[in-house]
Amino acid sequence: MKIVLSVNELRAWSRSAHAAGKVVGLVPTMGALHGGHASLIRAARSRCGAVAVSIFVNPTQFGPHEDFARYPRTFDADCALAASLGAEVVFAPAVEELYPAGAATFVEVEGLSNRLDGASRPGHFRGVATVVAKLFIAAEPALAFFGQKDAAQVAVLRRMTSDLRLATEIVVCPIVREGDGLALSSRNVYLSAEERSQALALGRAIGAVEALVGHGQRDPGVLIEAAQAALGGEPAVRVDYIALVDWATLEPVETAAPGTLFAVAAWVGSTRLIDNTVLS
Ligand code: AMP
Repeated sequence: MKIVLSVNELRAWSRSAHAAGKVVGLVPTMGALHGGHASLIRAARSRCGAVAVSIFVNPTQFGPHEDFARYPRTFDADCALAASLGAEVVFAPAVEELYPAGAATFVEVEGLSNRLDGASRPGHFRGVATVVAKLFIAAEPALAFFGQKDAAQVAVLRRMTSDLRLATEIVVCPIVREGDGLALSSRNVYLSAEERSQALALGRAIGAVEALVGHGQRDPGVLIEAAQAALGGEPAVRVDYIALVDWATLEPVETAAPGTLFAVAAWVGSTRLIDNTVLS
């Protein structure tokens, strides 16, 4: 497996793979890889002859008081994992490679970028859309793999690729969880043992909503109240949002229906966690 640092080298790799008749797949990550990322790389390998994993802690998607500086960085282990799963390339650019001095160009998906996580993290989705556009332009992937875990991000990126008429297809992979239901996240390392157990309230909120929907409940008010009650059972958990929205627009729905996104974000101590389910 090759470690590539420059955009030009990544593009040359992608074009030669394409010329050799291979489907090029990209798995964008911020590193600190875990089983969720591994599932994306496996999905990519199952559909693509040539897979690149990008590892880039993107400064523009972090707010001024967020965890950019202390975000976990485990580059050597990440490369070993990517290699063991059959990635051909790890793309690990320096910040100046993706944001040359004076870079003044950004991609903003209006409207969507201010909803859910975008409402509580101003500028976050502008940073995400910008870096993913840069990665797509550099890697020219036929397919790019993202986790449903970041469901609002998926909505923003789907709209971006559609609006910009990009040639990359977005593939969304299911949320990978621990045995007790906690969604895997690079940020879980911030949790103390006590906080980790408090964090299970997010999964319980999702379970409560799924159970009610299974019994025919369609009223967003009732479903959100049930989620609030599940989260309220853990006083140390501070809710950021609980939302029942159309997955494409991230606008609240009047009736829960198959395909509706139920999403929750909450603070456990100083760690902000997100989780969701798409109603069936
Ligand atoms: P990150 O490194 O946190 O930016 O995540 C990189 C990609 O991995 C994103 O598309 C995430 O949605 C995805 N991802 C993160 N956690 C999980 C998980 N538990 N299950 C599936 N995909 C995930």
